[in-house]
Amino acid sequence: MEDRARTGGCAVLSSAAHSAASQSVVSSTGARVERQPLSRYTTLGVGGEAEVWTVGNHAQLAEVMGAPYRILGGGSNLVVADEGLSERVIRLGGQFAAIDLNADPALSTLGQLVTGWVGGGVPLPGLLRKLQRLGYSNLEGTVGIPAQLGGAIWMNAGTRFGEAFGGLHSLEIVSPQGTRTVTPDELPWSYRDSGIPRNHIVTRARLKLRRSSPEAVQERMDAADIARKGQPKNRTPGCAFKNPALADGKRLGAGKLFDEAGLKGSRVGNAMIALEHANFIVNLGGATAADVHALLGLMRERVGVALELEYELWP
Ligand SMILES: Cc1cc2nc3c(=O)[nH]c(=O)nc-3n(C[C@H](O)[C@H](O)[C@H](O)COP(=O)(O)OP(=O)(O)OC[C@H]3O[C@@H](n4cnc5c(N)ncnc54)[C@H](O)[C@@H]3O)c2cc1C
Repeated sequence: MEDRARTGGCAVLSSAAHSAASQSVVSSTGARVERQPLSRYTTLGVGGEAEVWTVGNHAQLAEVMGAPYRILGGGSNLVVADEGLSERVIRLGGQFAAIDLNADPALSTLGQLVTGWVGGGVPLPGLLRKLQRLGYSNLEGTVGIPAQLGGAIWMNAGTRFGEAFGGLHSLEIVSPQGTRTVTPDELPWSYRDSGIPRNHIVTRARLKLRRSSPEAVQERMDAADIARKGQPKNRTPGCAFKNPALADGKRLGAGKLFDEAGLKGSRVGNAMIALEHANFIVNLGGATAADVHALLGLMRERVGVALELEYELWP
């Protein structure tokens, strides 16, 4: 049994399961609050400490949004400062990490279906595996993106084989102004952009899918996955820079530019420009955000064109 000692609005969990390093408290609405290094939650594996709130229902969300906050998904597009963050960091759990893939009979036909709610905190790779087993199509082009569903929707993540908005029926968005349910038509979404304002939280979504077969979905996943050959296997937040656009609208391959500048294998501390693909910075183990920033600076310096960062720097 948990022994809950009240400390102001929070209760300390003195259960043996919690170490002193990351002592948990429970907020007045029941959210779990822990001071934790964000390196634990980012695919790059860097990032200092912040107060991490794991929220599982609307009351808990309303409470956490009462002070400055950031919303964390799969941490696959982030470089978090070594000094950590002063804002609360929200992680979605509970009902925001639940999956209901039952077809809604009122909205589904023989060929197409609309699911129940799928939480924004659901990891995308596991969700895609479930959809493949059911033979449900439309989202398999996002295979290999290590996001949560909410983060993938917020960025409209995708590949040339498909994007998050290709499989959406509706979504729930929560902000300090309240909760609203919208359809994609009501959002100004575009390439890699949902049009949803920052810090408006995608708590859950209903998926619009096409009935196919497990084999056919797997085949399309394999095709999308093959396109990833040559990407590094080390910890990384994905591509560093967007492909720069030329005056005629064509785009240059950023990786090729860095490769031609001889940057592959360049190292600062334990961060390195990947040998496999020069637009990826990888953590060789124990890298810091400062190492990554130094490499980003080197990449900008060595390539004579304006470059726009692909990932987000926190803060
Ligand atoms: C190996 C690798 C390969 C990748 N390949 C691709 C690719 O092919 N295509 C592609 O588009 N991207 C790719 N990415 C980048 C990344 O996976 C995507 O940008 C993804 O959408 C980030 O989602 P996340 O849940 O990890 O969000 P995070 O990195 O945690 O956060 C990114 C942003 O989304 C916001 N956010 C997160 N969750 C929510 C939510 N529930 N509601 C509202 N806002 C939220 C955060 O506040 C932050 O602003 C890749 C990354 C890696 C590491």
